[in-house]
Amino acid sequence: MRRMFIPAVVAGALLLILLCLSLFNFTWMTGSPAGHYILSQGCVRVWIHREGDATGLPTGAGEVMWTGSNLNWRPVFDTASVLWFVPNVPTLPGTTPLARKLVGIGIVVPLLYPLALAAAAAGLSWPAYRRHRRHKRGACTACGYSLAGLGPIGKCPECGTAAPEPRRGTGN
Ligand SMILES: [Zn+2]
Repeated sequence: MRRMFIPAVVAGALLLILLCLSLFNFTWMTGSPAGHYILSQGCVRVWIHREGDATGLPTGAGEVMWTGSNLNWRPVFDTASVLWFVPNVPTLPGTTPLARKLVGIGIVVPLLYPLALAAAAAGLSWPAYRRHRRHKRGACTACGYSLAGLGPIGKCPECGTAAPEPRRGTGN
């Protein structure tokens, strides 16, 4: 249980950062494999394109726009996601901009749920983690009172809790 605490805190912090970034609608595109990754409206949106010519997709193109007031908490799995992509290149006079159709799989994962899970895991494992930390530094696991130098007394003088065998409580 206590070993869960630090990973849960780290995962929660990372998810919180992603959630904050998603308020600014951050878009990331890759050319090969053709992918479209969006942090938007409290969600991670992923589109992997299995069809269509990926050349010309702006690699690492970023787009930042505030969408924080319009959060979406519904998970979406879209197996027939179609993205019409208009290349962001200047067109010659007298020609129409070339739009390409990319077909792929789209997944929208709201970040709230894994974040709540990480927070719950951190909260549940915190008491065990704190007890472990107190035991390690030779303190009472219940109240944190230092038992160093008291020898095998059996009970914490501060709160009366039966003290577990101290690791380093002999004062040497
Ligand atoms: Zn105590």
